[in-house]
Amino acid sequence: MRIVDIRETAVPLRSNLANSSFDFSEMTTSVVAVVTDVVRDGRPVVGYAFNSTGRYACGAAMRERFIPRILRAKPEGLLNGSGDNLDPEKILGCMMRREKAGGHSERSNAIGTIDVAVWDAAAKIAEKPLHRLLAERYSGGKVPDKMFCYVGGGWYAPGQTFADVQDEMRRHLDAGYTMVKMKVGGLPLADDVRRIEAVKTVLGNAQLAVDANCKFGRDEALAYAKALSPFNLRWYEEPCDPVDYALFAELASVYDAPLATGENLYSTQDVENLVRFGGWRRDHDIIQIDPPQAYGIVQYGRTVAMLERHGWSRSSLFPHGGNQMSLAIAAGFGLGGAESYPGVFGDFGGFADDARVENGTVTLSNRPGIGFEGQSRLYRIMRELAA
Ligand code: MG
Repeated sequence: MRIVDIRETAVPLRSNLANSSFDFSEMTTSVVAVVTDVVRDGRPVVGYAFNSTGRYACGAAMRERFIPRILRAKPEGLLNGSGDNLDPEKILGCMMRREKAGGHSERSNAIGTIDVAVWDAAAKIAEKPLHRLLAERYSGGKVPDKMFCYVGGGWYAPGQTFADVQDEMRRHLDAGYTMVKMKVGGLPLADDVRRIEAVKTVLGNAQLAVDANCKFGRDEALAYAKALSPFNLRWYEEPCDPVDYALFAELASVYDAPLATGENLYSTQDVENLVRFGGWRRDHDIIQIDPPQAYGIVQYGRTVAMLERHGWSRSSLFPHGGNQMSLAIAAGFGLGGAESYPGVFGDFGGFADDARVENGTVTLSNRPGIGFEGQSRLYRIMRELAA
């Protein structure tokens, strides 16, 4: 049993959306295929992943360092103890050879995307959905059949009116979601408050969170905290620079409702710094690491273990991404929930074509692996890469 090839390609997301900090007109993502010599149903098992959304394609580092290291390694050194499957932990160790400490984001996306594709292959070799394989390894075998999921929406779009955002939110509620998130920081504060009020009028009992995408300096972050307080939001996400732990702590001391961050933290140590120095309140604030961008699933397991040593529970963890990778990870680790991006990010947003949303939960597929095979437009891109 061995990995015979690892291929990658950069694909544009083709999105005209924007948050408060940047637009997605140039955004790309790396699609990875890990091709094995294992045959299932007459075809070689191939593991797939992409490097989520919001960070550009990262093929150069894969081609120069991480793919050659795996392909040059002795195949038996990358297998589990019984030799009947790939060992993602050993493969992560192989990719990290001759890598200096720190400087995480220079390599964490490239390594993490390959890691997630390796897990997809490992689950297919084991003939299990990834969330089941992860639950057996990381969550005491507790395998859910559905997962809480909220919509990351409320983007800023050219020419958009408040009525447009209200219509968008009505569509999400009609689709079965019970929690939505909207962007803030793209308009002056008073207008953003009116935009939130407009959305609140259509939400009924549904929960609302907001996301500032790291836009604010200290004064604006605090001004928004004050203005947002009366709304009793589910959370106030990424108010400021992702590693400004002093400002996080200051915000946590004046803003009672939950704060959220983590999609721009790439190492276990950065997340540990957040809970040690950022004033992040245990079982109140939210942590949103994006696993393919932060060294992948093996490292995510180490981060969860670190957080549990600090007394955190998994219900505070909501992986970023809005895709089938983060859905499987949220379900497999027994986390608080996952994000969903219905209708945005082209072929890369959303879940399996037959996934059902009901009462805020998304059904999980029984397809072996992550389940990209059930997401026809995305799978077409992946299959072409492996062909
Ligand atoms: Mg965000």
